[in-house]
Amino acid sequence: MERRPGPERGVRVAAPPRGDAVRDGRDGQGVERTAGGGGPIPAAAPLLRLQRAAGNAAVGTLLAVYAAHGTAAPRTLQRQKKQTGVLVHPKSKLTAAQLAKMVTTNASAPDWVKKGLGSSGSSLIKKGPLQGPTDVILDVSQSLRDAVTSGSWEITTGTSTLTVSLTKPLKHGPSTRPQWSRGRDKPMYDYLEWRQVVTPDLEPGEHLVRSLGKVGPDTTMTTPVAIHSEDPEVMYGDTELADTTSQIAQAPKGQNRGLVVLVTEIDVVAPDGTSKTFAPTKDQLVESLLHELSAHAGQDTERRPSEHGRGDVNDIAQEIADWFPASSTTGDIYDFIQHGADAALAEVADLPR
Ligand SMILES: [Zn+2]
Repeated sequence: MERRPGPERGVRVAAPPRGDAVRDGRDGQGVERTAGGGGPIPAAAPLLRLQRAAGNAAVGTLLAVYAAHGTAAPRTLQRQKKQTGVLVHPKSKLTAAQLAKMVTTNASAPDWVKKGLGSSGSSLIKKGPLQGPTDVILDVSQSLRDAVTSGSWEITTGTSTLTVSLTKPLKHGPSTRPQWSRGRDKPMYDYLEWRQVVTPDLEPGEHLVRSLGKVGPDTTMTTPVAIHSEDPEVMYGDTELADTTSQIAQAPKGQNRGLVVLVTEIDVVAPDGTSKTFAPTKDQLVESLLHELSAHAGQDTERRPSEHGRGDVNDIAQEIADWFPASSTTGDIYDFIQHGADAALAEVADLPR
């Protein structure tokens, strides 16, 4: 997922695999978070503290749940027998038909993808074989088919807010930050902090939550989940596994679906306080959709590793990235941030430049 403005492409850029949320990286090495952009499930220690403080049975039950699942997010695979297709959320800014059209009219997507994907009602469906060429090193089509036909996924759009500011108090950031500026990286850029939050388009009052297990006959304990990043990167998509899905999506049908979020708007605030809204290109949107479905959702459906850096995720991401021209969106965003950073940092004395 390192995505630099120049020659690389990817859905997003990032750091080392965190294993908790899905993102997209352009060079296929990025960090993906699959179980919830929101970070790992709280470790048992805070719960123990809570238990000591509260001393109630509910916490004991919760701890038992942890013991059963370990510290990793429980990944539930729920194959729906009857309905297949990727359900498009009612609040998605792109309907199933619009998403399908975006793919089928895209000049860069392979024919087998364009002929294989369609829509029916409020779902993205498999309308053709959705079978890729077999004379390739890695056939991504099985993973895409599994994501689309499992009935285990829902999709919605989302808005990302990316704020880059001077660290306060001014301090040197992590030295492992990938270079993001366009060939003009400066040491003083280490004094910036990045914060990015993706807000999925959901029903009013509907939030991403991760289930921590039942604590009573009718009570499930949950914790809020935020899709976020503090790395120098641009997030174009995210895949939340079924254990981190929306309340409403979970409740009515009694079936958990994982949620794929496709970023359609990026509000950027640069270090000098200037702001600008960016929209991913059509190519970027289609790539992100196929990336999330194939590299993450489908792999999870197959009960295979679905985080960047594990299993086939990076190879699938790279294969898909290779179908598309380099997106200009990330470069444009980085240029805007760099302009604001130069202005803000010029006011600060005694920085390495
Ligand atoms: Zn990814």
